[in-house]
Amino acid sequence: MIGDGFGPAMATFTRTLKGSPLAIDGYVIGTVSTKSANRLITDSAAAATAMATGVLTKNRGIGIFENGTAAGTILEAAIEAGVSCGMVVTSPIHHATPAGFSAHANSRYSEDFITKQQLQKGIKVMFGGGANYYNLPDNRLLAEEMGYHIINDTSQLNSTQLPALGVFAYDGLPFEVDRLNQPEQFKHVPSLLEMATRALELFKEEDNEKGFFLLIEGSEIDWAGHNNDPVAMYYESLQLDQTFEMVMEFAKKDNDTLVILTADHETGGLGIGYHYSNDPGDPYSWEPQVILKSKGSSEYIANKLLPLNGSLLYSTFTEYTGIIPSVEDKLELDNAKNFSEMYHAISLIVSKTARMGWTTDQHTAIDVNMVGYGPLVTHFCGNQHSNQIATKIANIFEWDLELITSRLRHFNTTP
Ligand SMILES: [Zn+2]
Repeated sequence: MIGDGFGPAMATFTRTLKGSPLAIDGYVIGTVSTKSANRLITDSAAAATAMATGVLTKNRGIGIFENGTAAGTILEAAIEAGVSCGMVVTSPIHHATPAGFSAHANSRYSEDFITKQQLQKGIKVMFGGGANYYNLPDNRLLAEEMGYHIINDTSQLNSTQLPALGVFAYDGLPFEVDRLNQPEQFKHVPSLLEMATRALELFKEEDNEKGFFLLIEGSEIDWAGHNNDPVAMYYESLQLDQTFEMVMEFAKKDNDTLVILTADHETGGLGIGYHYSNDPGDPYSWEPQVILKSKGSSEYIANKLLPLNGSLLYSTFTEYTGIIPSVEDKLELDNAKNFSEMYHAISLIVSKTARMGWTTDQHTAIDVNMVGYGPLVTHFCGNQHSNQIATKIANIFEWDLELITSRLRHFNTTP
């Protein structure tokens, strides 16, 4: 399991706001450092490649060595060993993390190229977003040729069969906070928990004697981090934790499943505590409860606020966030002239009110948590680099990464 961008501060934040321990809390066993081959701060493509292949590559690279040749992934090696494989994500299925496990491309932005590879890989479950490429006529035809049962609505989830392809949004799935607050608008979109639950059921029903490998990603923790949006961040992180709880129930009953959960990197540089020398506020205050008053992500609220101005702008802001804007906040809202400026303004005001800070709207180099349970989980204790995760998994299950890499040596990673 991966929380894309899920840094240690997000766990503290989510636990505090939830008011009780997280499901992951009892299973934190180590940390993971995350740099890529060419940058101290990795992107999601190089990070996924590291975790999937054991290879440190350059940023933007998908399942490739630094020189651009293809590197075998643990998902491919598992399929080779007869294991049933699946990927459940909230981003588009062709997005960097799932792509790093299931495709080889010089650039993460070769999305059609990645989609076509994923469809021909023999992956038995793919649930997520990404209709922008998966619904293109030739890709749709390819999916049918590969025998996929194709669904696009929550109501079809429980009746679908293997191999299952569920594409529930044009791009990424809506943020969980928006899905929860707009049940009518997003009723066709399942949660990460619902998709992962069905994927496990399908593998349980199939009962492959070689077992299964399932990648579950809370993809949009990263997107909330890029937006510096603490509201979206909380609900995305909580959803990942609830999904982990469900997976743990399965693993404890099954008694022969290894579960690991980590992040590919941290996003946003979330800092809990926000005070400067000229700040009259309490230097040790943190007010996360304000997050719970918000009725949507910064992006969702920005769409509502953008056409408004003056007192209607301020009162609508209050209606959605529960915050009465100060003179300074009003200026932030007035100055936001486009969608991006507006959601950044909302994120800033909500974060400041909660007394939380962000160092960047990109990724950071801080180590992330390693969480694990099950047979041989001690292999993942202590600090490790992200690429060691792939080699450890391959060694434990005797999945042959080198065989896959040698077969791929003439594969052209540029479309
Ligand atoms: Zn990112």
